[in-house]
Amino acid sequence: MRKFDDPVSIRIGQLKAEGKKIISPSLIIGLEGCARKSFYKNIMKLPEDKNKYLVGGTNAHTVVETFVEYYKSNPTSSLLTSQAVIEEIFNLHWDVPRELGLNDKEREKMRKVYLKKCQGWLNVWHTTEKGAHIITEEHVINEDLMLHGFIDRKELFDNEIWITDMKTSKDAAISNKYKLQLLYYILMDKWCNPTNKKYRIFLDFFDQGKLEVPYDNDDLEIAKDKALQTHKFMLEAGQDIKKYPRGFDYCASCPYKDRCFQEG
Ligand code: SF4
Repeated sequence: MRKFDDPVSIRIGQLKAEGKKIISPSLIIGLEGCARKSFYKNIMKLPEDKNKYLVGGTNAHTVVETFVEYYKSNPTSSLLTSQAVIEEIFNLHWDVPRELGLNDKEREKMRKVYLKKCQGWLNVWHTTEKGAHIITEEHVINEDLMLHGFIDRKELFDNEIWITDMKTSKDAAISNKYKLQLLYYILMDKWCNPTNKKYRIFLDFFDQGKLEVPYDNDDLEIAKDKALQTHKFMLEAGQDIKKYPRGFDYCASCPYKDRCFQEG
């Protein structure tokens, strides 16, 4: 569970009090899709309608991060023990609100699908993780780019740092937006914890496995440039909704469509 009393949150409070604007990787990525939707979500902070994918994904994230916290104190536990632990954690955290409107059969089907995802993730975890020092949900910032975010999982090795982002998407594929998000995690982590270690970045698709995302220095420079351009745009556009272009390809599933069409 994310807390907002960590040193980075306190620093963000100070920067905001000085009138500085801090942005997030999701805002940069969102502006590349429908900028207006990103305005509603990231600037106005309007709640998104919950749907079963959002609820399932949030639950599954909580389950694996809770498991990783357990694993950090019990690193030698066997696969069998871990299987029992992850099921126990799953049963404790699994929560599908009635407002989603699913009947009992649909709820049970959804429970089984996500339990299988978490169990599949566990099997991969046990065959690939090598007992590095693990940090979860770290809040990081880069004050040169005025950017902050949370890293799902960071593993520290002698000469390398691995950063992993968890995804519950149906298709395990490396999209540009997933890659960009990971590049920002590198830029923020390096700013907070300067190091010469090599960064490797991964997407962990639960039962579909973990993929390494290739990148080079040019990719990092492009990501930096996008962050600076977004800042410039945000300072110019401010709270004026008319300056945030609409991206009509995304309307069908948009939770803000009534409001958007009313506002013209
Ligand atoms: S309804 Fe369409 S144009 Fe309006 S915010 Fe949503 S995605 Fe963007």
